[in-house]
Amino acid sequence: MTGGRGRPVKFDESTQGAYLKLVAEGVRLGEAADRCGISRRTPTQLATRNPDFADRLAQAKTAGRTWRAEHLVHGRASTYNLHACRCTPCTTAATTARRTHSHTTPQPHRTAQILTLPRTNPTTATTQFPHAS
Ligand SMILES: [Zn+2]
Repeated sequence: MTGGRGRPVKFDESTQGAYLKLVAEGVRLGEAADRCGISRRTPTQLATRNPDFADRLAQAKTAGRTWRAEHLVHGRASTYNLHACRCTPCTTAATTARRTHSHTTPQPHRTAQILTLPRTNPTTATTQFPHAS
């Protein structure tokens, strides 16, 4: 996830396909647009000009609604984030996830040990490593 608001990418065939797929999988429109790197308005704009796309978008939305009704698992941060579910279990999960996230486990103290091994003449070194098996 880039999170950046860079220049919107072109909403070409393949991006449209990816976008519609996300929508059909129950991802809400704004989130799907973000994930495709397009402006949230782009699909709506395209739909007004392009009846075929409007159709596909409508179908994807219907599929997405059905998907959400059937598959949404509550009490998950992803449900809160991706599907904008604001029910108590989802909100709690998202809050917990955020808290855990900002609290990244500190790396165990590690002192880099770079040992300079005494090197015998490399051309005559005959060290054999025993096979693991
Ligand atoms: Zn929920």
